[in-house]
Amino acid sequence: MTRRDEIAAGLAAVTARVERACRSAGRDPAEVTVVVVTKTFPATDVRLLSDLGVRHIGESRDQEAAPKAAACADLGMTWHFVGQLQTNKAGSVARYADVVHSVDRVRLVDALDRAAWSAGREVRCLVQVAVGDRSQSGAGRGGVSAADVPALADHISAARSLRLAGVMGVAPLGGDPDDAFTHLARIAETVQSRHAAATWVSAGMSGDLEAAVAHGATHLRVGTAILGARPPAG
Ligand SMILES: *Cc1c(COP(=O)(O)O)cnc(C)c1O
Repeated sequence: MTRRDEIAAGLAAVTARVERACRSAGRDPAEVTVVVVTKTFPATDVRLLSDLGVRHIGESRDQEAAPKAAACADLGMTWHFVGQLQTNKAGSVARYADVVHSVDRVRLVDALDRAAWSAGREVRCLVQVAVGDRSQSGAGRGGVSAADVPALADHISAARSLRLAGVMGVAPLGGDPDDAFTHLARIAETVQSRHAAATWVSAGMSGDLEAAVAHGATHLRVGTAILGARPPAG
């Protein structure tokens, strides 16, 4: 099997899972965007994905994403930054990312806004919420507590070069994704009641995308189910 065949098979399997999940939830699959997370995989895979019709690419480390986005600039992909983001990397990320899913503090908003403004770009931002693990707040998967979401959402909304697009959550490892995504859906509603255009809910990965679709996710971030197992982090 060629790499192209492998990726095509992964895409077909994930598309079928999303369609089945939408059918059981009574949702239209057109409401759900799959962001293919290519971290640790080469720019050549992004080209194959483009050939296969994928338009949304996710990355989680700037030092890997910046050169990959540059190498693939001709493809016109929409680049999503989904990982924890250090403030000192905001300047780099704002030059290629169309969407940042992991906005979790005011200082990061300010740094992204400054960088997007000087690059003459507009960056969509999602507030990353800590969900589903009320006992051990955060549990290392990032995000702000529900109580802090409105202020951060307002701050993004007031920034001149950022657009508040919605919320993002990562279900806790070993936890119940239904709990986490129910919580996220409630917070998404609260944000939308103040910011009508903030309709995106980024939730669900390879292992829990069905639960995310059931609870209203508009964006899924899927890596291994499409591209295969990642080499160990290094
Ligand atoms: C890596 C990553 C994903 C994709 O995870 P898979 O389990 O490979 O689908 C999704 N979201 C974030 C934030 C990630 O870092």
